[in-house]
Amino acid sequence: MSRPLDVLFLSSEVDPFAKTGGLADVSSALPQAIKELGHEIRIMMPRYRFISERRYKLHDIIRLKEIPIPVGKQTELANVKSSFISNLKEKVQVYFLDNANYFGRDGIYQSPVGRKDYKDNDERFIFFCRGVLETLKRLGWQPDIIHCNDWQTGLVPAYLKTLYSSDPFLKPIKTVFTIHNMAYQGDFAPDAFPKSGLPKSLFHVDGVEAYGKFNFLKTGLQFADAITTVSRRYAEEISTSDEYGSGLTGLLAKRKKDLHGILNGIDYHVWNPVTDDLIYRKYDAKSLDAKADNKRSLVGRFKLPYKEGAPVIGAISRLVEQKGFDLVLEIMDELLKMNVQFVLLGDGDKGTEKQFDAFQKKYPKQIGVFFGFDKELAHLIEAGSDIFIMPSRYEPCGLNQMYSMRYGTIPVVRATGGLDDTVEDYSGNGKGTGFKFEKFDAKELLKAIQRALKVFHQPEEWKKLMRNGMTKDFSWEHSAKQYVNLYKELLKQ
Ligand code: ADP
Repeated sequence: MSRPLDVLFLSSEVDPFAKTGGLADVSSALPQAIKELGHEIRIMMPRYRFISERRYKLHDIIRLKEIPIPVGKQTELANVKSSFISNLKEKVQVYFLDNANYFGRDGIYQSPVGRKDYKDNDERFIFFCRGVLETLKRLGWQPDIIHCNDWQTGLVPAYLKTLYSSDPFLKPIKTVFTIHNMAYQGDFAPDAFPKSGLPKSLFHVDGVEAYGKFNFLKTGLQFADAITTVSRRYAEEISTSDEYGSGLTGLLAKRKKDLHGILNGIDYHVWNPVTDDLIYRKYDAKSLDAKADNKRSLVGRFKLPYKEGAPVIGAISRLVEQKGFDLVLEIMDELLKMNVQFVLLGDGDKGTEKQFDAFQKKYPKQIGVFFGFDKELAHLIEAGSDIFIMPSRYEPCGLNQMYSMRYGTIPVVRATGGLDDTVEDYSGNGKGTGFKFEKFDAKELLKAIQRALKVFHQPEEWKKLMRNGMTKDFSWEHSAKQYVNLYKELLKQ
C-alpha cells in the first residue's frame, strides 16, 4: 500500500504539554517523525488543567459539553480543543479531550501534594478511551490505525472489538498497542469493570481480568491487532521471564508473533548539544573543549567546587524502585573515595531523597542533589557530566543513555532492556560507547564505574568513546519507518 496513512496516536502525556517521563518524549517525537515520512498523524490526549490555553493557543474543535460519554450509569460530557506541535517542518495536530471533572486537576495521575494516585483513575481513563472513539465519529475523521500507548489507552482496542464492532465508521480501524513499561498496568478493583460498559463476559482470565482485578494493560494486550514495546531485549524479557512480565508473561508469550521490539529514538530538535539553548555552551564532537565549560557551569549550579581532573558523574531519574538507585546509595562511600563528584536530579520516593540528602550533607564538596522536575537542569547535566549512570532493575528502552551518548557523556548502565540494546560495552582500543554490568548488584555497579574511571584517566582513549557515542545515529526516522511498516502489514490483513 503506497497511499499515505491516517493514524491517530493516543497518549496520556505528550511533551511539551504534560510529562512525567519518557512516554511524553516518545509521544511528541514519534508522531512528528511519522508525519515527516508523509503520513497524516494526529495525537489525542486528555486536557489537564495546567495545559495553558494561552501559551499553546488552544482553540475549540468541538464545543463545550457536546459529546455525551457513558461512564457506568452516568453520562459525562466532553468537548475537544486543539493545538499543534511543530519542531519539524510539518505540524502535528493535537486534540485535547476536555472534561473539567476528570482532568481539571493539577496532576496527571496523582495529586502533586501527597502523591497519591487519584481514586477515580479508572473512570478518568474509561472516559478518555470511550471519548476518543466518540470524538472520531463527531470529527468524521476515520484513521486507518489507532496507535495506543500504555494502560491509559488500553480499553480502546477492546471497545473497537466489542461495543463498537458493528459501527461502520469505526469497524475498519486497526490498533497497535505499545508497552512503555510493563510495571504500570492500571489495575482496579472489580467494581471498576461495569463502569467501562464492556460486555460482562469479558471479565475472566482469558479476557480483561488479572489476579481478580480489572486490568487496563491486559485489556490492551488481549485486543490490539499488534503489540510493540520499545526495545528488542525488553520484548524478549517480558515474554519469557516472570520477573519482567509483571504477571502477564504468559499472555505475551501467547501473542509472541504479534509482539515487536522497536527501539525509541532521540528527538534531535530537543536533545542536541549543537543547537541546545538550555546548556551553557553549545558544542559538537569537534569542539569538546566547550563541554568543559558546561561542566564548570554544572558544578556551579550545584554549588560544588570545580576540580580539575575529577570526573563528574551525573544522574537524572524518577526515583522509583525500577531505577536502581538503592545500588548507588550502597556504594556511595566507596565511590566518593575515588576523587569524583556526583550530581543527581531526581523526583519521586521521599525515603530515597532523604538518604541522598544525608550523603550530600556528609560530602558537601562532592555531592550535589536537586529534587523535583527541572527540564533545563536535565539538559545541563547531560552536557556537563563526564559519566552518566543508569543502574536500572529493568529498563524498557531508556532515553537518558542515548541523550548522554549524544552529549559525549559516557553511560554506565545495567545490561537490561533498551540499555543493553543501545550501549556498546567498552572493549579496549577505542571501541565501545559505554560501560555495562550484568547482575543487579552494587559491587557490579562499582566495578563498572571503576572500569570507566580507568579509561577516563586516559584522555585520548576517553575522547574516542565520546566521539563514538556522539556520532551514533539514534534518530527517530529509522524507528518511524518500522512503525509504518507494521501499520501497513496490519492493513493488509
Ligand atoms: P522513564 O520514562 O522510565 O522515566 P526514560 O529514560 O525513558 O525513563 O525517560 C526519562 C525522561 O524524563 C528523560 O527525558 C529525562 O530527562 C526526564 N526526566 C526524568 N526525571 C527528571 C527530572 N527529575 N527532571 C527533569 N527531567 C526528568
